Amino acid sequence: MDNLVQLTTDELIALEERYGAHNYHPLDVVLSRGEGVWVWDVEGNRYMDCLSAYSAVNQGHAHPRIRQALVDQAMRLPLTSRAFRNDQLGLYYKELCDLTGFEMVLPMNTGAEAVESALKVARKWGYQVKGIPDGQAEIIACEGNFAGRTITLVSFSSEPLYRDDFGPYTPGFKLIPYGDAKALEAAITPHTAAFIVEPIQGEGGVIVPPAGYMKKVRDLCTKHNVLLIADEIQTGLGRTGKLFACDHDGVRPDLVTVGKALSGGFYPVSAVLGRRDVLGVFKPGEHGSTFGGNPLACAVARESLRVLVEENMVENTARMGDYLQERLAEMNSPHVKEVRGKGLMIGVELKPEAGGARRFCEALQHSGILAKETHVNTIRFAPPLIISKAEIDWAAERIQPVLLMK
Ligand SMILES: *Cc1c(COP(=O)(O)O)cnc(C)c1O
Repeated sequence: MDNLVQLTTDELIALEERYGAHNYHPLDVVLSRGEGVWVWDVEGNRYMDCLSAYSAVNQGHAHPRIRQALVDQAMRLPLTSRAFRNDQLGLYYKELCDLTGFEMVLPMNTGAEAVESALKVARKWGYQVKGIPDGQAEIIACEGNFAGRTITLVSFSSEPLYRDDFGPYTPGFKLIPYGDAKALEAAITPHTAAFIVEPIQGEGGVIVPPAGYMKKVRDLCTKHNVLLIADEIQTGLGRTGKLFACDHDGVRPDLVTVGKALSGGFYPVSAVLGRRDVLGVFKPGEHGSTFGGNPLACAVARESLRVLVEENMVENTARMGDYLQERLAEMNSPHVKEVRGKGLMIGVELKPEAGGARRFCEALQHSGILAKETHVNTIRFAPPLIISKAEIDWAAERIQPVLLMK
């Protein structure tokens, strides 16, 4: 099993560069195996994964129980399409609702699709329930957001790299500064259907809004009959030390998008969760996906949720997140402007004169730690939620010299 790949790192990179579209700039490490918080490259070097596939492998790489669920279901029945029913879907819905306290689920595959679907629900709700005149629904989003890469989603991105040359853009979106509840109140009109927000902006640079922000936007949305959509695709399912990041503020959104760790990294599985009177606006035929809600996805997601709960990963994240943040803060690096985050979603922002986060991530790689820069100056530390204190100590020993380098 260790010798599936015969080519060297350089040969494999050359193939990627020659035949693949160049829409990523990965670290030059070619991975072939993973287990828990660890991954191995094709040369046999071991690394601690401090990115967790952007929080898709919260449960750790190749979790044996999830892997078994995937294999078992693959042996039985991978796909039916929603033209027929399958014996996993109803159980998956119920278990997801029981765990999260929402009333209904709309199953999709990727995060981008979940967000697109939530926006479609919000528009339809705006016309059918709120009574917004046809074609005039507005959706408010925040500067610095990340919602995925479809044309509609990049239409409300404020990041030129994600947006430029992909127009014409989908109309109907308004951008306001993140973390500014007053700006939300000023932007709401009688035509506003929804406000979509990440409780902590992940791709935006691990940006934590001011305390009480989510509570304020919840109150404003309620007051003005605007749906609150929380995009918890990255923050959700334990990453911040609670099941949802919104739980830190005791806030219940009208719709929540989840993805990434919903499958423990085995398979693209996403969903919109919501209230019955909101998600209930969809009628047969109005929305769909060939793979959405397929039995393989459902079986994998069911087991991914179970291990999250039964192995106390959320509680571990709260404790280990505090510990890792402490260890990072006490390194006293002259390069570091700020250590911030919640749970195991941690950003170390470097001063502009530090020369960018990329060179630090490359140095970390050579010390056995895989982390990725987010925006130019922030290193993200987001290991799998199963990380132990000893493993954090191991990492801190290697991170410190890198943060102290010239
Ligand atoms: C990753 C992410 C998405 C998009 O998910 P994909 O599966 O890559 O389409 C959407 N929203 C947030 C907050 C994310 O972090």
